[in-house]
Amino acid sequence: MLLKEILELYNIDKKVYDFVNENENRIADIIDKHRSIRFYNQNKVNNAMQYHRLSYTDFAWSTGYGYGDMGREKTESIYATVFKAEDALVRPLIVSGTHAIYLCLSGLLRHGDELLYISGKPYDTLLKVIGETTDDANTLKDMGISFDYAPLDKNDKMQIDIIMEKIKHNTKLIAIQRSTGYGDRRAITIKEMEEVISAIKLKFDIPIFIDNCYGEFTEEREPLEIGADIIAGSLIKNPGAGIAASGGYIAGKKELVKSVTNRLTAPGLSKDCGLTFGMTRSMLQGLYFAPQIVHEAYKVGLLVGATFSSLGFAIKPSIDELRSDIVQAITFNNPELVKTFCKTVQKASVVDSHVIPEAWDMPGYTDKVIMATGGFIEGSSIELSADGPMRPPYQVFYQGGMNYDHGKVMVMQILQAMIKEHNIQI
Ligand SMILES: *Cc1c(COP(=O)(O)O)cnc(C)c1O
Repeated sequence: MLLKEILELYNIDKKVYDFVNENENRIADIIDKHRSIRFYNQNKVNNAMQYHRLSYTDFAWSTGYGYGDMGREKTESIYATVFKAEDALVRPLIVSGTHAIYLCLSGLLRHGDELLYISGKPYDTLLKVIGETTDDANTLKDMGISFDYAPLDKNDKMQIDIIMEKIKHNTKLIAIQRSTGYGDRRAITIKEMEEVISAIKLKFDIPIFIDNCYGEFTEEREPLEIGADIIAGSLIKNPGAGIAASGGYIAGKKELVKSVTNRLTAPGLSKDCGLTFGMTRSMLQGLYFAPQIVHEAYKVGLLVGATFSSLGFAIKPSIDELRSDIVQAITFNNPELVKTFCKTVQKASVVDSHVIPEAWDMPGYTDKVIMATGGFIEGSSIELSADGPMRPPYQVFYQGGMNYDHGKVMVMQILQAMIKEHNIQI
């Protein structure tokens, strides 16, 4: 009878409840497999904290230049160990993933160099950073850095022959975007990256950068373990676990991290300065929870995918494909379904559930985007969140969910809204 009460609270029909439960059964084995990835990653994180003797005094912070800020140094050492890097930058004042990536690109490339993306065109905000979609100052283009990309094939794989042809004498950085972004593709797996990076490294000595956003802790290995040289990501996604209030990270080879540091601070200042403003505890607590939270998000994404594919919508990745990010894309071919989906994700959130999202011109994006984000951390997409750029084929990119039970009720609410507003049949 308690179940009846919950269904009544959310106006969910018993048949919707049953339908979502059937789809949950369909993915039980896949979830089971991912549990061992969570187990491995949790111990990797714990061990890094123990190895670096994390102590409660590391949660204090200093003032001024911040020289000798123990918490900052510990946080960066722990990140370096977790991601198998020689060095890392982890800063609360890196405002987003885009900022972390821009620091890498602008810190590693000089006038006359070329940046080559080998995973297709990059994410919308990065096209602005590169200077493809804006004439703003200090884009890569504005700094005299050219750009090229190699498309993926129809199976969303990187194409080594095309990549080899595109590498020029002035190609000074090769970039891979692990996660889908707003592309109609699945994530690139660690194994696929390993094969392509090995092939490139046989012939060329060019640093390889990975946009690791949404990828952290979805697999056992991370990109630096399979030959990549430098990675970057956002703390309001996977590695912050909805606990870090803000921030970004960069990890990789020491000399590359040093070049990036010269962008972050200034040449000569090095990474031994910069305040943490009391954020080391939440950044590290986030990292501690990240393997578990990513597992929850992974499960919610799968349930969203299973449910909507059962209804006949195209999804990426498919249920049985290996997932190397937490994003689940659904193609609706109809802007109204995208809006209903996102509005219901917002409604299902516990923060700002009363707010109705509208499509708007978000800074950094080319088309209007409707975004549902009702997180404890504003804009955090490791929490229940969905976004849909208002352009064909009208897809929703769903990601996050720090709590599977919550995500499961959200899926029921979305389905119920689709039935009510759009006559979807189950
Ligand atoms: C989220 C994301 C980014 C960075 O986006 P921000 O909103 O700036 O954090 C970059 N690349 C990919 C693939 C992403 O998913």
